[in-house]
Amino acid sequence: MIRIVCPHCHVSLSSAELEQATVDDQLSLLCPECSSVLVSESRHEGEYHTLQEHYAECPVAHA
Ligand SMILES: [Zn+2]
Repeated sequence: MIRIVCPHCHVSLSSAELEQATVDDQLSLLCPECSSVLVSESRHEGEYHTLQEHYAECPVAHA
């Protein structure tokens, strides 16, 4: 499980706990505790994609 610590209120969140909001047609992830934008897909294009890449890199049993 990926954990993200909010830099504003320091709550520990899993990626599934983040609130998704679309602002200006851009997906952002918000902290559900303090409503701060943690990830904006367009402005920090690496971060959210890094999560998805992390999932993709999860070990898969190719026997
Ligand atoms: Zn927060």
